[in-house]
Amino acid sequence: MSLASVPMPEEQTGSTPETHSPLDLLAHCRESLGREIQHRYGEAPFRATQLFQWVYKRGIGDIAQMSDLSKGFRDRLIQELVIPTGRIHSRQISEDGTRKYLVEVESGDLVETVLIKQPRRNTLCVSSQVGCAMGCKFCRTATMGLRRHLSASEILRQVMAVIADSRSFGDTFTNVVFMGMGEPLHNLPNIRTAVRVLTDMHGIGIAPRKITVSTVGLVPAIREFGATVPANIAVSLNATTDEVRSQIMPVNQRYPLEQLLEVLREYPANKRRRITIEYVMLHGVNDTTEDLRRLPGLLKGVPAKVNLIPYNANAGLGFQTPPEEWVAQWQRKLHEKGVEVTVRWSKGRDIDAACGQLLTVTGQKKGKAAREEMLAAG
Ligand code: SAH
Repeated sequence: MSLASVPMPEEQTGSTPETHSPLDLLAHCRESLGREIQHRYGEAPFRATQLFQWVYKRGIGDIAQMSDLSKGFRDRLIQELVIPTGRIHSRQISEDGTRKYLVEVESGDLVETVLIKQPRRNTLCVSSQVGCAMGCKFCRTATMGLRRHLSASEILRQVMAVIADSRSFGDTFTNVVFMGMGEPLHNLPNIRTAVRVLTDMHGIGIAPRKITVSTVGLVPAIREFGATVPANIAVSLNATTDEVRSQIMPVNQRYPLEQLLEVLREYPANKRRRITIEYVMLHGVNDTTEDLRRLPGLLKGVPAKVNLIPYNANAGLGFQTPPEEWVAQWQRKLHEKGVEVTVRWSKGRDIDAACGQLLTVTGQKKGKAAREEMLAAG
């Protein structure tokens, strides 16, 4: 659409505009798209279901081909409806089959999206922000600072770009994790819309139990997420004392362990749907014998399964990966204490696609300012 055809706001022109601003299909859940279509065109909301099926189920974004819509309606949609695609800027394939994509979600802005190949499932790891404001000391994304939130459309553009590319590999994903770049709960409204489309049977159609959103522990947002988003939650605990946690995760100064654990104890989970507790093991920092002894007690009353993540080395950040035997010892001891525990030996380390290794621009200094703003706002 050219600039000349963008209508002036109604109050300035004094007449009802003939055309509207562009309508981005990927920015809406089906209900919201239905409302928009009714409002703009007087068409029944179920047209949104048809559009969803063309785009998300059949992978067809050419409106002219949408044969179950009337010609007149299609012509109007061609004028106004945009169905953006994320452009794959580059793709790297790890020795273990994991594919790391650099997706251009908006001109010039690149984010990383990783397809993790596992024996019985493939997991798509999506980014929620360009950069991140949380400033965790062991994470490479944090060194970028926050450039901006991704819109729901941009989150879904990553997903659609990988679906399209995966056709040439004859595979696809079965699970989705919001564990790429960014802090998803800092961008909750857009995550909520994206999850609605992911879980919509007329949209991407993934079961809510196969979607996990990971957070540093933004307490109010966890509460809101639990009440409004149909997906699992994972929390990056990463320490057993406030002292250590505040050192490695500045967010702990705002939401210390006691508040975090309280919201997790109250979280609407059950035996079949546990909260994943991620624990990045930074050798000698948060993986001491004392930490091991404290962890089961901290998790009392939390329907938790612990995921130990041996630190993936990032040059220059100054942390050590624990020896394998030490990780095994942690796993054994936690298991003996009745804690459900798994170890995540990250995939794709050879191509820097592993947890905490995602980075797309260098030299951003906005992180500290954005973090201070977030901490002050509470
Ligand atoms: N901001 C969210 C989502 C990112 S998920 C969160 O922090 O939970 C990324 C996961 O990888 C988190 O559990 C994080 O603690 C972990 N992580 C970050 N840097 C890491 C590193 N260098 N090695 C291993 N895990 C890391």
